[in-house]
Amino acid sequence: MRKLEGRSMICLLLILAMLAGLLFFVVRLEINGSKWASFYANDHIYSDGILNTGEITDRNGESLLKNDEGGPLYAGSEEERRAVSTVVGDIGSNIETGANLVFRTRLVKYNPITGTEGFLGMKGGVVKLSIDKDVNYAAYEALAGRNGFVSVYDYTTGDIVCLVSTPTVDPQDPDAIETAESGAYINKVFSASFAPGSTFKVITAMAALENISDLESRTFECWGQTEIGEGIVDCPYAHGTMDFEGALANSCNCVFGQLAAEMGPDVMGVYVNKAGLTSSYQVNGIETATGSFTFDYSDLDLAWAGIGQFEDQVNPLSMMVLMGSIAGNGTAAEPSIVKGESEGTVSLVDPNTAQRLKELLRNNVISNYGDDNFPGLEMGAKSGTAETGDGYEPNAWFCGYSGNYAFVVMVEHGGGGADVAGPVANTVLQKLMEQGE
Ligand SMILES: [Zn+2]
Repeated sequence: MRKLEGRSMICLLLILAMLAGLLFFVVRLEINGSKWASFYANDHIYSDGILNTGEITDRNGESLLKNDEGGPLYAGSEEERRAVSTVVGDIGSNIETGANLVFRTRLVKYNPITGTEGFLGMKGGVVKLSIDKDVNYAAYEALAGRNGFVSVYDYTTGDIVCLVSTPTVDPQDPDAIETAESGAYINKVFSASFAPGSTFKVITAMAALENISDLESRTFECWGQTEIGEGIVDCPYAHGTMDFEGALANSCNCVFGQLAAEMGPDVMGVYVNKAGLTSSYQVNGIETATGSFTFDYSDLDLAWAGIGQFEDQVNPLSMMVLMGSIAGNGTAAEPSIVKGESEGTVSLVDPNTAQRLKELLRNNVISNYGDDNFPGLEMGAKSGTAETGDGYEPNAWFCGYSGNYAFVVMVEHGGGGADVAGPVANTVLQKLMEQGE
């Protein structure tokens, strides 16, 4: 009897071990199944290493790419393909943030019971991106062969409605030599950082509004240059007498350099973190680049850092979200490159500070850039002209908000921010209005 009990016990243990193993497998399948199924070695969904199932469309359902037995087939003319290539990805999957690579598990439409639909000869999944292909094309044309980027997003929903990073490739037929040398495989909005120039004065203004109690009752004087620490900070010309609002509209280096030096490195460090410039975002799983800043050298270096030069580096997407947060009373939706899939909100600015910054940016357009240059829009913005230190023209920046949109534009070596990047922003926002977006 005892012998039988012993054997039953062994049987029971074996059954339990088997059930535990099965459970372990099912859990692993649930967690990893789509990854395993979309692995490159799965011949059912790849032909010669190229995905052969699934479709990518823009926000209106316009097809941008269909994968079939021959690999990806991109829609439209070469110029139309180039205008969306940064977002959609190229045939060789060299653009690491390209949708055809990043969202391949969704394109395969894997399901733990039936496996990949491609395997059953059925159509794969459709990924509906947040971009509008016509708006992207307008941005691509407005850059007119110049290197740079344009991005616009709805800070209430998170949808990135426009993203162009130039130079681009023809995704169907990239020229290997051209692209290797130019860096066309990089999505600059997601994966790069640049000296922000005077757009950074928005962050210095944010810190000053919260740390200098008499800021808005002060009167400032600019004589064209001012001594800070052991050196001189200068402006293109003497801005004369102005209040804080006027100093931002004039983009006065003397005033903002002094404000940064007055607040000190610790305060400036707190505000670049608070503004979200030193951390990365997850855009549908794509990790974006972070900015970097050095504030703890001399007062003179701190002054230059406070006006967006010295060692400041800003990621364009983080600047766009900050603009959205200012326009959105402190809070903005996290950006999404797939329609309607924002993963939450970020609060980067205190609501009172956001409200004042929103007014200040609006005033920049009214009193400096000119509402006439942006017909039908109610825009707030800040320009930047960032020295690149290589003997070329500076990089032209323009970022801000209009309606529910926040935007960031840069024309590399373009020259003056408002004159060069401003019209690009206008063209794209006009196209958005025309589209009824
Ligand atoms: Zn000045």
